[in-house]
Amino acid sequence: MKIIAYILAAILIFFGVLFIWGAFSPQGNPRWIPVGIVSVGIGFVIIWFASRRKNIPGEAPGTNVTVNVDLPGNVSMDTLKCKSCGGTLSPENIKMVAGAPVVTCPYCNTTYQLTEEPKW
Ligand SMILES: [Zn+2]
Repeated sequence: MKIIAYILAAILIFFGVLFIWGAFSPQGNPRWIPVGIVSVGIGFVIIWFASRRKNIPGEAPGTNVTVNVDLPGNVSMDTLKCKSCGGTLSPENIKMVAGAPVVTCPYCNTTYQLTEEPKW
């Protein structure tokens, strides 16, 4: 889960920087700057939470089973985006299928697996 959080954070920071960058381009919109800053900020918060979680001793990897579906929602409830259309996904859109979290986008009806290698 930690790797996923880091990847998600990296994507957020990457797009955040792109937004800020794009705001200064000729066809850019200054309103992109706060969007970029928020995106980068959320990315850093995710990294902070992910690294903080690592420092908690006595938390066995097996305990991840209890959080299953909730975890992607908790980590990125406001930031989870559809890979196809970019629509914001809520935890209700995530279903456990054969032990893997599968996202069904309510906007474009795309169904895909949330993670390549689920830990639970
Ligand atoms: Zn979609």
